[in-house]
Amino acid sequence: MIVAGDAGSMRSALTGAPRPLGFVPTMGALHAGHLSLVREAAKSCATVVASTFVNPMQFGAGEDFDRYPRDERGDRTKLADCGVFALFAPTPATMYPPGFSTIVDVGDLATTFEGAQRPTHFRGVTTVVTKLLHVVAPDTVYLGQKDAQQAAVLRKLVRDLDFPVKVRTVPTFREEDGLAMSSRNVYLTREARTAAPSFHAALERMLRELRAGCDAVQARERAKPVLRAPGTWEYLDLVDPDTFAPLETLRPPACVIGAVRFDGTRLIDNLLVAS
Ligand code: AMP
Repeated sequence: MIVAGDAGSMRSALTGAPRPLGFVPTMGALHAGHLSLVREAAKSCATVVASTFVNPMQFGAGEDFDRYPRDERGDRTKLADCGVFALFAPTPATMYPPGFSTIVDVGDLATTFEGAQRPTHFRGVTTVVTKLLHVVAPDTVYLGQKDAQQAAVLRKLVRDLDFPVKVRTVPTFREEDGLAMSSRNVYLTREARTAAPSFHAALERMLRELRAGCDAVQARERAKPVLRAPGTWEYLDLVDPDTFAPLETLRPPACVIGAVRFDGTRLIDNLLVAS
């Protein structure tokens, strides 16, 4: 597997690579959820490229940038074992050299839910993904449904700025007990890890109530108590999966979205109801 640390060497490595080219952007600390994106890409792409970059621009002040899990050697082994052709693993100084100041912002969609809790988060994501798409120039980019609003923001970025790339969203990969895999799960205390699957159970309860005919307000009130201590809710809602506009009742496509805190650890998850 080729490993490139800057845009020039990445572009040279990809010159003449067989098409279609699939791209899986990540922040590293790879788990089976990330690798499911790589495997999905390998099904329909002749060349698969991944990136591992813990992007400082998408972390707010006081968030976990410094302690975000990192495992460069493990990541390389996992990606090579999955047949990835090239890895782009730049440093913050390479991506954001002195004088860097351009910001890409998709507007209102980046200001609700995750954007309300983390006001500068999505512009960090859209700015770095714009750079990554320019460097890798993939035919298809693979994103996880796990980060539903991020996927919606990036679909909008690609549409609004005419990137010649298809966006494929891959279902959330879960632990056997239902907890969505996340690099941040390693932060959970034993007590929190035991209670954390109740988050997914609460999302499922909300969806069952909606399917039984409850409106979103009733369904939320019935689902919220399913979350076990020490979990606390930040939000639990029913939204349109593209605009993230709240929905009063279930009308596919729709997405039940939630964010919780377990002590200091913030988790997000969702259930998509396709049309
Ligand atoms: P991250 O490294 O957490 O920024 O995630 C990189 C990509 O992997 C994003 O497109 C995520 O949505 C996706 N991803 C993260 N966790 C999962 C999961 N459990 N299942 C599927 N995709 C995931």
